[in-house]
Amino acid sequence: MKTLDDLIAEGVSGRRVLVRADLNVPLDGSRITDDGRVRASLPTITALTGAGARVVVAAHLGRPKGEPDPAFSLAPVAARLGELLGADVALAGDVVGESAKATVAALTDGSVALLENIRFDARETSKDEAERSALADDLAALVGADGAFVSDGFGVVHRKQASVYDVATKLPHYAGGLVLAEVEVLRRLTEDTARPYVVVLGGAKVSDKLGVIANLLAKVDRLLIGGGMAYTFLRAQGHEVGKSLLQEDQLEQVAGFLAEAEKRGVELVLPVDVLAATGFAEDADYETVPVDAIPADRMGLDIGPRTCELFVSKLADAKTVFWNGPMGVFEFPRFARGTNAVASALVESDAFSVVGGGDSAAAVRLLGLPEDGFSHISTGGGASLEFLEGKELPGVAVLES
Ligand code: ADP
Ligand code: MG
Repeated sequence: MKTLDDLIAEGVSGRRVLVRADLNVPLDGSRITDDGRVRASLPTITALTGAGARVVVAAHLGRPKGEPDPAFSLAPVAARLGELLGADVALAGDVVGESAKATVAALTDGSVALLENIRFDARETSKDEAERSALADDLAALVGADGAFVSDGFGVVHRKQASVYDVATKLPHYAGGLVLAEVEVLRRLTEDTARPYVVVLGGAKVSDKLGVIANLLAKVDRLLIGGGMAYTFLRAQGHEVGKSLLQEDQLEQVAGFLAEAEKRGVELVLPVDVLAATGFAEDADYETVPVDAIPADRMGLDIGPRTCELFVSKLADAKTVFWNGPMGVFEFPRFARGTNAVASALVESDAFSVVGGGDSAAAVRLLGLPEDGFSHISTGGGASLEFLEGKELPGVAVLES
């Protein structure tokens, strides 16, 4: 796999370089509420501009329906990227149309342009290879005959999409710093892992994480499960969970995981108490109850204090930890304690600690925990989970060819 360093060594001064970045930030109207992904994209972009390249960034934002939609414009991202770079970032008014061509043509050495939301073009996510290929041709044409492609959007490398996968087949291609770093970290979680290896899973839906659980059971020493997904496990063990999040259709599979963990000698640790709230609201009243006494009209919105202690103790001797998914509805301060307890335990720990998942990473920042307290905070939730599931990531595999 050729890397950004290889490209810079070849010489990029005056050349146009297409960078696929992951700039899919959470927005409140047009205000960016967490600019982590924009900041994460800076090292690769500045390495290129510093070497005199003319950088064309392609990225997506949200899920527009394959056509222009002002609600999903990258304008706020272009502005923030410009602030962080300390230089104007020209935003094209379209993806590969007249505006994009003119914007790219106007680039000078060491400057940066951003194409409008790549998902405004339906071909980006098309299942039809020929359609994706046509968009990839248009992207390649933007950077011209001596152009190059740098894949730096780790959050999208699990997608076989035009600006992620197909374009790499059209241009000389290189792994950006972010993709390279992520792949290296994730390999440490799958090969020669230092033990005890503890995985903490939480978040809303079990169904999102079934594949990773199945694969991890063969690799980890301990699996701690909190968050909304814990209730399906608790239900599978026979507990009533009231109005808590429950995926009935996953009960059978989850019961299978419980049996599998036992068979393999994996310690599967579930909550012993929860904060049972009167409703899903920031100011909801709650009581702390053991998991065998969750009232029928209440919903568990966080793990309880005894569970916090239990989880922290199960992390104490870990040498490797992967954490994905908040322990509770951390967006509401009174239900953020479980997430805070686990995250703080990782900050204290000297284990190799990796945080995966958009919401988990956002929680770290929202709770004001030091980002350098973790060995690595992954920018790609889905991609890191698919890697840990043992799946091939198309956007990485194509860079190896
Ligand atoms: P990540 O993005 O880190 O992979 P997920 O997207 O799987 O995490 O889950 C994050 C969401 O899970 C958060 O919005 C959080 O509020 C929600 N969540 C956590 N615990 C609960 C719970 N007990 N009930 C409902 N939602 C929960
Ligand atoms: Mg999420």
